[in-house]
Amino acid sequence: MENVTKKACETHIYRALDEVTAKTAAFPVMETINNDEELSTPCDYCQQAAIYVVSNMQSPTIS
Ligand SMILES: [Zn+2]
Repeated sequence: MENVTKKACETHIYRALDEVTAKTAAFPVMETINNDEELSTPCDYCQQAAIYVVSNMQSPTIS
């Protein structure tokens, strides 16, 4: 299965969920970015800091 990961801010979380679902036909996994060092990670859809990571696979490296 293709591994798709999207980063999204509060505004774009639903778009990210839709895209991951559409690309993989699998139920997406949504995780909150709560590591201070990652707060500067940009959203994939705008310039804001991303607060969610959406992927189609459970990743043990993202906590
Ligand atoms: Zn955004």
